[in-house]
Amino acid sequence: MAQEESPEYDVLIVGGGGAGLRAAIAAYETNPNLKIAVISKVYPMRSHTVSAEGGAAAVIKPDDSLDDHCYDTISGADWMCDQDAVESFVNEAPNELLQLEHWGCPWSREADGSVAVRPFGGMKIKRTWYASDKTGFHMLHTLFQTSLKYDPIQRYDEWFVTKLLVEDGRCQGVVAIELATGRIEPILAKSVILSTGGCGKIFPFTTNANIKNGDGMSLAYRAGIPLKDMEFIQYHPTGLPFTGILITEASRAEGGHLLNKDGYRYLQDYDLGKPEPKPVLRSMELGPRDRLSQAFVKEQERGGTMAGEYGHYVHLDLRHLGEKIIDSRLPFVRELCAKYENIDPVTDLIPVRPVVHYMMGGISTDIDAATVLPGVYSAGEAACVSINGANRLGSNSLTEILVFGARAGKNAAAFALEQKEASSGLQAQVEDERNRLAKLMLGEGTESIAGLRKEMHDTMEEGAGIYRTRDSLAASGQKVRELQERVVNVKVSDASHTFNTDLTAAIELTYMLDGAEAIIASALLRDESRGSHQRSDFPERDDDKFLQHSLAYREPGGSPRIEYQPVSITRWPPAKREYGQQKG
Ligand SMILES: Cc1cc2nc3c(=O)[nH]c(=O)nc-3n(C[C@H](O)[C@H](O)[C@H](O)COP(=O)(O)OP(=O)(O)OC[C@H]3O[C@@H](n4cnc5c(N)ncnc54)[C@H](O)[C@@H]3O)c2cc1C
Repeated sequence: MAQEESPEYDVLIVGGGGAGLRAAIAAYETNPNLKIAVISKVYPMRSHTVSAEGGAAAVIKPDDSLDDHCYDTISGADWMCDQDAVESFVNEAPNELLQLEHWGCPWSREADGSVAVRPFGGMKIKRTWYASDKTGFHMLHTLFQTSLKYDPIQRYDEWFVTKLLVEDGRCQGVVAIELATGRIEPILAKSVILSTGGCGKIFPFTTNANIKNGDGMSLAYRAGIPLKDMEFIQYHPTGLPFTGILITEASRAEGGHLLNKDGYRYLQDYDLGKPEPKPVLRSMELGPRDRLSQAFVKEQERGGTMAGEYGHYVHLDLRHLGEKIIDSRLPFVRELCAKYENIDPVTDLIPVRPVVHYMMGGISTDIDAATVLPGVYSAGEAACVSINGANRLGSNSLTEILVFGARAGKNAAAFALEQKEASSGLQAQVEDERNRLAKLMLGEGTESIAGLRKEMHDTMEEGAGIYRTRDSLAASGQKVRELQERVVNVKVSDASHTFNTDLTAAIELTYMLDGAEAIIASALLRDESRGSHQRSDFPERDDDKFLQHSLAYREPGGSPRIEYQPVSITRWPPAKREYGQQKG
């Protein structure tokens, strides 16, 4: 979109994924007279939400209950989530998914015409709605086409945000690069919603798209907003070893088995239940993701995995499901296997390994999606409300982007309605940002982007992976600090103003380093094991000391400072997480 003067909006949404688009629609619904804009570094339909396969959880069936969904989420989270937020989430979830259906989302059906649900890891009952195995695609399409109906929602596609404009104690917009032309422009707004997604790309093996660099997390962090619970990083147990491409949990929900090198269902040896002819909820392959990923590491240690070019792996076996089920329920899995591994799951075993998948942590918000900085809201994977605690249950995230996207849109709209015009003095900040980026583009640095990124990947995998220790984290912490000092001298080789991916990669690297530092600092101080955060030197959960959220603040010199905030407990006092017993 070409704009001559600094455009000014009521609500500006950074991120055109599921959370951002849901927020835009909610802002419009709050007041159709508001001026709303969605800015996205990629065309909205290319946001990572599009790649979600498995489904979205919400209570719909008569044998399910809101309390059960709460309990599964809270125990899955190893009690690190805020229970008031979980209760709101679970209560609002069914309406959000129904609303999506009314906007056109083609949820898969049971034979009697009712919405179909499938089992998902860590849930004690089937409650995951799905649209074949392309759920994210259909959800994002539905949101996108709905947003197109509303003229006041304007779009800045392929604009890349580099800075939040903060003046007079409130956020008043952003500075962004129009990628097609290289223009650097302010876009002013009375409230800003950060829905920029996660940051899996901090790690080398991930299911995450290349665009997931934690941009919004870093922008918020640099503006003084804390990042909450960054130490909790979800590994998904079944990614393809080389590309990290996800083989959805739905393949295990449909009855897929995980086999070690001897063809043995090794999960039975790791306190996750015993093999049964049919999949059993919360048991074996349908246990929670943190436990399954940890079992892989233990299996590797006892020599049960296979060594490949891209690390160790095990096998996912779908052969016994037969071609009909695979083609009707898991067609995308078959397509991905053919395209990326040249195998057919109908006849072949699929090589898989745990890969980084999801950030439980993120921009700290309250239950209304508001941050501590007036005018900044956040929702989706970029945010930490928190409902995911130390381990997210699969299929809660697609629902979370709707529930909290809607809340962010509504509350940011209400905030905007109370604000006056933009402050003077913003122009100086814009000029500073233009100068900073111009200097970067002179290309006088000496450090290579790819080189620094590889060093970051290696140290994060080595020191802050599935199992960590104080020593491994301290070593990685030192390394990332060194990289932070070196990245100031990064070289941008391309001087072009048209789609300069070298420039954006350099900026994204700085975002990822901020995230990496917050992850390590939070993990280093958490002397316990809980959910996805496993410290080999502190193997037990320690509720007395650590039933608290970590908050990483950026110190003026750039290093993180960690503070703590109590976890909200409403009706479910901390208990032991037990899997493998319930038969659903
Ligand atoms: C392969 C895969 C499968 C998944 N499957 C499931 C599933 O079945 N069920 C489930 O519940 N969850 C699933 N998840 C998780 C879930 O899909 C995501 O957490 C969720 O979709 C995130 O949505 P979002 O709107 O927060 O962010 P995204 O969809 O990632 O969108 C982020 C947006 O921010 C924009 N952006 C980022 N930085 C900038 C910047 N600097 N300037 C401008 N714009 C910017 C991007 O362009 C994009 O539009 C899956 C995730 C992956 C990776």
